[in-house]
Amino acid sequence: MKILVAASEAVPFCKTGGLADVVGALTQRLGALGHDVCLFLPKYRSIRAASLEGGIAHPLKVPLAGGAVDVGLSFLHRRGVSVYFVDYPLYFDREGLYGNAGKDHEDNDRRFALFSRAVLEGAKAIGFKPDVIHIHDWQTGLVAAHLKRHYKNDPHFAGAGCVFTIHNMAYQGNFPRAALEAGGFGPEDWSSDGLEYYGQVSYLKGGIVHADKLTTVSSSYAREIQESPDRGFGLEGLLSRRSKDLYGILNGVDLETWDPSRDASLIRKYGPGDAAAGKAACKEALQRECGLEARGDRPLIGVVSRLDYQKGLDIALGALEPRLDRCQLVVLGTGDPSLTEMFSALERRRAGAVHFHRSFNEPFAHRIYAASDIFLMPSRFEPCGLGQMIAMRYGTVPVVSRTGGLNDTVHEEPRDGQDANGFLCAPGDGEDLARALDRAIAAFASPGWAPRVKAGMAGDFSWDRSVDRYLEIFREAAAR
Ligand code: ADP
Repeated sequence: MKILVAASEAVPFCKTGGLADVVGALTQRLGALGHDVCLFLPKYRSIRAASLEGGIAHPLKVPLAGGAVDVGLSFLHRRGVSVYFVDYPLYFDREGLYGNAGKDHEDNDRRFALFSRAVLEGAKAIGFKPDVIHIHDWQTGLVAAHLKRHYKNDPHFAGAGCVFTIHNMAYQGNFPRAALEAGGFGPEDWSSDGLEYYGQVSYLKGGIVHADKLTTVSSSYAREIQESPDRGFGLEGLLSRRSKDLYGILNGVDLETWDPSRDASLIRKYGPGDAAAGKAACKEALQRECGLEARGDRPLIGVVSRLDYQKGLDIALGALEPRLDRCQLVVLGTGDPSLTEMFSALERRRAGAVHFHRSFNEPFAHRIYAASDIFLMPSRFEPCGLGQMIAMRYGTVPVVSRTGGLNDTVHEEPRDGQDANGFLCAPGDGEDLARALDRAIAAFASPGWAPRVKAGMAGDFSWDRSVDRYLEIFREAAAR
């Protein structure tokens, strides 16, 4: 198939979270299967620094409300995927993908409206006639809307289906009404079955209304966003009306990047056969690196996360502190300044038992996944979650809340012929989390621990099954 993909982040080029992992891995898998995959990304400043040598630049005119603007298109071929970077320095040559210093960029409406239109114009300019257009999250929701509004009769897109993947309903891309006209839309789009969302324009809704097929990243989350207002953010009615077009497909993990037997960031590599010894060496090294007491007898709890309300770490702090005589904690996280301060204060109070690293640091994340005994992810909601799957691949037992993809991947009792692989608590419930931590800490010293480690490492977190599901849906969208 000829697959046109548009996203606002993708590894290895730019990343703020799981979206980048998913777009990077999925496009690569599709390319490896022989599909013709063309990925469009904004050319952020961080990409400017990366080598685009050998790439071809195409000039492009993108129609916008006030007239056409000149946009550059840089090209790179990587592992079976043609990657095009939309180059518009005024919008993308700056610090931060969506914001800087804890504040969203004020012109995100114009930035991603331009990007969305540039994807379609770009595909035409390079002569890429897609069978399917796969778009991700609010940043590219307008691609679906543009397609229906402005390219309906364009032969270049005749027969092209559009699939919109929702990675997180919590981010809707809501902007004042003026964004409608600025984005190239008119009053006919200002309605409850158009782009209007409680008096604002929602780019996410643009994707939900206009795409042929919708997917999200786990079966549980697909159900939750149709049923509950605090998961559907007011769009649950619309989503349930589109129920027959909405599918939950669990994300996979990039097995090459996340492989403890080949991970160059680790002091000692290991596999399922020598996990206990390998993890002990990694734990000792991380304790040393972080100034933690060298305690092999206490479980080391790891957190690698955006610091955000969604992740429930504020609740976790209360449950963790009274238990720090029985465990240690290492946290890698950036985001919310008040959560940052709370973890810094905990580190000051409990030096030797707690280490907090406030940056985005990929190699350090690898070392935490390997060295920890327990991986903590107490999310209030979690569309899919990659952290718990990566942790299991590294033999680290997850303690998670029973929601979304966490619910679909972690089980405390044997399930489908597989041993228990983690511990679960109710989302948003500190007392239940404390009980789950107690069960995990007690189990660490018991014979029941090694089977949990083994069950996690034996889990199938590959993309294979999910890629087949995406392809089925792509074909349905193209044939509609
Ligand atoms: P989300 O997309 O909501 O942030 P996921 O669990 O789906 O959560 O994906 C998070 C991804 O981002 C994982 O690959 C995780 O290792 C990575 N990550 C999160 N925070 C950091 C950080 N501070 N440094 C390095 N990697 C991080």
